[in-house]
Amino acid sequence: MPAAPLHIDTPLYRTAAGYSASDRPLWLKLDALQPAGSFKLRGVGRLCQHEVENGAREIFCASGGNAGIAAAHAGRVLGVPVTIVVPETTSEEVQRSIEATGAAVVVYGSVFDEANAHAIKLADARKAAYVHPFDHPLLWEGHGTLIDEVVAKGADFDCVVASVGGGGLLAGIVAGLGRNGLSHVPVIAVETEGAASFHASIAAGERITLPAITSIASSLGARQVAQHVFDLPKHHPIESVTVTDAEAVAACLKFADTYRILVEPACGAALAVADAHPGILERFSNPLIEVCGGIGVSVEKLTMWKERLL
Ligand SMILES: *Cc1c(COP(=O)(O)O)cnc(C)c1O
Repeated sequence: MPAAPLHIDTPLYRTAAGYSASDRPLWLKLDALQPAGSFKLRGVGRLCQHEVENGAREIFCASGGNAGIAAAHAGRVLGVPVTIVVPETTSEEVQRSIEATGAAVVVYGSVFDEANAHAIKLADARKAAYVHPFDHPLLWEGHGTLIDEVVAKGADFDCVVASVGGGGLLAGIVAGLGRNGLSHVPVIAVETEGAASFHASIAAGERITLPAITSIASSLGARQVAQHVFDLPKHHPIESVTVTDAEAVAACLKFADTYRILVEPACGAALAVADAHPGILERFSNPLIEVCGGIGVSVEKLTMWKERLL
């Protein structure tokens, strides 16, 4: 019998039609309520579980954010030590919250790619498992459970709106739709301007590496998406769109006031489509928005972003 998953079946809310400028009711999948604060636990938990079942006695992950928190959480539940390698840009606050879960933090490199290479090296040297934050088939299989849950609840959605960083969430949603016979359901893939590596790659017809990340939505800040993610539009209908940081923050604030739940701008980006770009949803009747969550947010941060951007 497979072990019980580490993530939970999150609530599915239905908004009133008037909630957003799209003027249609929205399904909101509340992954902000996952233990560890984001959808990441679905895939990272699945992958960590697999590694431990196959004998791993230690886990390494590179991440400056929610993937690290999810791996730390998974390690604690599974009873194996976890080390998260974070780039120097990761705030003290995030480092402390990773440590608070019982994981060790190693600071290495100025960007994610350097931290990631170091995590792979450390894991190799210690014969430990290495968990990538967005590029692994088991991760996508795990993320896809969010679609399984929505389908099991009988929700009649006709598109999925989700944000894209390295693209693990997008790949998971496409996998989840596929295994539920919903390969015709389009996905609206949302990035913020300044973190739009998927959008740039689609436009260029080749996988682009952004020179820098200039958006405040740090969880979307992968300079390059996974190759598998770049290839997804060849076999699934995907529309790549961008929103501004200001639109993402405005959506976070409205969502907080309505539902009393804080989410990162990375998540506000997906919510912002219905608020600020309703035309994108015009051809759909029942959009499903993945409320992916994130721990990199506080009342203070939202207030600061509001003052700076709105
Ligand atoms: C990781 C993350 C994303 C992006 O997910 P990818 O799998 O990297 O595309 C979006 N929002 C939040 C809150 C995240 O933690």
